[in-house]
Amino acid sequence: MRYEPITPEILKKLQAAVGPKNVTTDPDKMQPYSHDEVTDPAYHHMPEAVVFAETAEQVAAVVQLANDYHFPVVPRGAGTGLACGAVPIYGGIVLSLEKMNRILEINEDALYAVVEPGVRTSDLQDAAEAKGLFYAGDPCSGDSCFIGGNIATNAGGNRAVKYGTTRHQVYDVEIVNPTGRIVQLGARLQKQSTGYCLEQLVIGSEGTLGIITKATVKLLPKPKYALDLLAVFDSPEQAIGAVGAILKQGIVPTCVEYMDNITIRSVEKYLHEKLQGSDSGNYLIVEVEGIHDDDLDDKAVALDELCTQHGASSVLVADHNKIWQARKAFAEAVRAESLIVSKEDVVVPVDQEPLLLAEILRLAGKYGLITRIASHAGDGNIHLNILKPDDTPYEDWARRVEQNQQELYAFIYAHGGRLSGEHGIGFKRKHLMEEFTNPDELAMMKAIKKALDPNNILNPGKIFDIE
Ligand SMILES: Cc1cc2nc3c(=O)[nH]c(=O)nc-3n(C[C@H](O)[C@H](O)[C@H](O)COP(=O)(O)OP(=O)(O)OC[C@H]3O[C@@H](n4cnc5c(N)ncnc54)[C@H](O)[C@@H]3O)c2cc1C
Repeated sequence: MRYEPITPEILKKLQAAVGPKNVTTDPDKMQPYSHDEVTDPAYHHMPEAVVFAETAEQVAAVVQLANDYHFPVVPRGAGTGLACGAVPIYGGIVLSLEKMNRILEINEDALYAVVEPGVRTSDLQDAAEAKGLFYAGDPCSGDSCFIGGNIATNAGGNRAVKYGTTRHQVYDVEIVNPTGRIVQLGARLQKQSTGYCLEQLVIGSEGTLGIITKATVKLLPKPKYALDLLAVFDSPEQAIGAVGAILKQGIVPTCVEYMDNITIRSVEKYLHEKLQGSDSGNYLIVEVEGIHDDDLDDKAVALDELCTQHGASSVLVADHNKIWQARKAFAEAVRAESLIVSKEDVVVPVDQEPLLLAEILRLAGKYGLITRIASHAGDGNIHLNILKPDDTPYEDWARRVEQNQQELYAFIYAHGGRLSGEHGIGFKRKHLMEEFTNPDELAMMKAIKKALDPNNILNPGKIFDIE
């Protein structure tokens, strides 16, 4: 794709649109905006300018300018993405939403919140909790990522088994569309059959179809009774094998998370804390909610019996903070081991997950890969991290990672799966998206992008390329 460079004339117009303090071309200040959480420098790209918007009107003015002068606009939340979605691969500007960070309303009677896109996910969770309410979205990066980024990527996380992913938490969004108009999509309704569901089209579109400038999200009464069970299994197969049985039992867990033994030991080292069963155990963490203590006890007993039947060597009630600190430290622990990591986010139907795990382990052996595995097991979503050892040349490692990917994705698509369960395609996986997606489905996606963004201004080169 060819775009016009950001000239002094364009910079002046950008400054007029958002105010001089909200535009920078200082390389030191722009550097953090050249990457997301993908640490491999091969994926980093400097923007020509970083622009901070404070209102939807400013976002609209910037996008109109981009159409007039033909430069790319890359929307950015907190930059915690793992697919290089917020990286300006064709230059142009990064448009940061970090200053639009107000919770505009929390309605305790009608159970909703109205938020700007730069609200930190944990701030919304805390604000809801302070009123005895609950926001169900819970990506592991919740302490740093933004609601706008969560909506743009349809973030999943830890409670999707019971509450669904971010798209299930959203009533409506206000967006700036790719031609620079402010549009309201969706409504605060439990149901509607009123034309195309455009808010859901924008959710998960990774900043390619609209810039989210406001959203109304669902809140729930805070569950009063909850507990976390930690089931420790001697083998990965036993642990993943128990997931289907747990889901079929009729108890709807909030989450079912898996960590393999080497990952548990990696986290243990990172946190400097002894973790239960870390010598040889593989974890299932199962969180359940109840309507009162007895209800919770009954569920815990039933889950204990079921996990034991499936080979758990121990099942115990876990310390909530400790076990979730361990689960959420997965990405940082891996990063402490190696800065160059290939992160897969594959997803299959839950009943196919034992087969997928076996295939992952087989391929890792075949290609001599060092892996760390954690998964949102109740969603069929496995995070496979492949570490580059210091003493292995990059090219050699990258070649084996690619061979592994080819076999892995062929397997996944043959078993009804997809490339990404929650991190998205971004720039990082777009070649695989082209290769593995049904051509007719891909053609429909591209037709939508071309129709809504005729100048290919919004986040170009993400998900797929437009010819
Ligand atoms: C330690 C760690 C743990 C993680 N755990 C999870 C997890 O459990 N579940 C999960 O799903 N993800 C997880 N992630 C990935 C990441 O946090 C999510 O994808 C998150 O939703 C990204 O939000 P962000 O604000 O950082 O967005 P960014 O990284 O800034 O952007 C992500 C994408 O969204 C677009 N975008 C951002 N804001 C907007 C906007 N307002 N309008 C339009 N487009 C926008 C960007 O262009 C980009 O394509 C994790 C990441 C890390 C580092």
